[in-house]
Amino acid sequence: MGASSASASHSKSSRKVVSEKPHITELPITWTNWWKHVDWLNVYFIIMIPIMGCYWAWFTPLQTKTAIWSVIYYFNTGIGITAGYHRLWAHTSYSATLPLKIYLAAVGAGAVEGSIRWWARGHRAHHRYTDTDKDPYSVRKGLLYSHIGWMVMKQNPKRIGRTDITDLNEDPVVLWQHKHYIPVVTFMSLIFPMLVAGLGWGDWKGGFIYAGILRIFFVQQATFCVNSLAHWLGDQPFDDRNSPRDHVLTALVTLGEGYHNFHHEFPSDYRNAIEWFQYDPTKWSIWVWKQLGLAYDLKQFKSNEIEKGRLQQMQKKLDRVRAKLDWGIPLEQLPVIEFEDFQEQARNGKALIAVAGVIHDVSDFIKDHPGGRAIINSGIGKDATAMFNGGVYNHSNAAHNLLSTMRVGVIRGGCEVEIWKQAQRENKDISFVNDSTGTRIIRAGAQVTRISEPIIAAQPA
Ligand SMILES: [Zn+2]
Ligand SMILES: [Zn+2]
Repeated sequence: MGASSASASHSKSSRKVVSEKPHITELPITWTNWWKHVDWLNVYFIIMIPIMGCYWAWFTPLQTKTAIWSVIYYFNTGIGITAGYHRLWAHTSYSATLPLKIYLAAVGAGAVEGSIRWWARGHRAHHRYTDTDKDPYSVRKGLLYSHIGWMVMKQNPKRIGRTDITDLNEDPVVLWQHKHYIPVVTFMSLIFPMLVAGLGWGDWKGGFIYAGILRIFFVQQATFCVNSLAHWLGDQPFDDRNSPRDHVLTALVTLGEGYHNFHHEFPSDYRNAIEWFQYDPTKWSIWVWKQLGLAYDLKQFKSNEIEKGRLQQMQKKLDRVRAKLDWGIPLEQLPVIEFEDFQEQARNGKALIAVAGVIHDVSDFIKDHPGGRAIINSGIGKDATAMFNGGVYNHSNAAHNLLSTMRVGVIRGGCEVEIWKQAQRENKDISFVNDSTGTRIIRAGAQVTRISEPIIAAQPA
């Protein structure tokens, strides 16, 4: 009785252990278990078959017609992924009529990258959780991982971020392709390209190897670049918080999917390249289909919104450059000095000059003064506001900028500076233009030492 209850509880606990057994991806890769981490079916399709294709190609002469056909079919199957799987189904950036959908589902299957339903689900997770652990092909796990590793190594299906695919579950073309994926993919990737070359000009073997196997390899590697290269190489004109980047090289490789920084900011836009001179044959194809009545409802973000994003990113970059420059000690950090003390210190040999209530130590600059030593010396220990702003010479913006780096103090009651400091002490609302780090922006001609209306009556000493 006791023994049987003990064994019952034992089997119960062992069952529990089995159900809680961690997924293989949760365990570290070791010399003894590494083969369990590998997705051997994908290795066979993505790596082994292309290697066999290369071997067979060695014994199979490439005919010109077969070469041309392979390139044509390469573009068709590539467009199936970029215009079909990606822009139509994953992002619904336009609508397609039934014949166009059937074409895209067929040639897309010919690229051997899984069913539309599976592909679009993963891609929506990639956009929603970019660069996080829930991103199925996060580039943060390495360039090679984002390119091919995520398919060659097993993935924990629970880890991939959840996304809504109800629209795809209502699309009969998507469901049909998912249900009959194996026959569809076998026919479209190998049998169809072989039939065209075989029935067309009698090159059955060449059609199978070049337009079939090797073409699959090139299409796969090209489209995989969207997940790897497009998150690694190029500029970030719209947002630099995440990894997507724009580069013409990636665009050339991926039928126009290389303007990936734009794409992640505006994913429902049917374009990836927004300039007419940028290479985006996927966009051109969709546009042509629209003219033929095959595609409609092409979605496009307003250029006003696109430009706002671009400008904000430019501003961010400007702020970074601005932060590296010396703008002088901020006024609020300078000591406040009585005018008499300032005169006293100047008399005792310090080369101090007051301009617009700010005291500057010009000792190191006297010998370099473009107007000569005599004039600058004549301002020492004085309020040189008028001299500096046109009384003797109306100094350039560059001179005001340079002067600001020599600030050492503020005179009590000195012009607008003191008013500003007092307002700040009393927490009054005075607004200045600040950059994204909160540092005050000094626009050209807006240095505090610049007095808009020069005091002409003032006489140089
Ligand atoms: Zn991406
Ligand atoms: Zn996308």
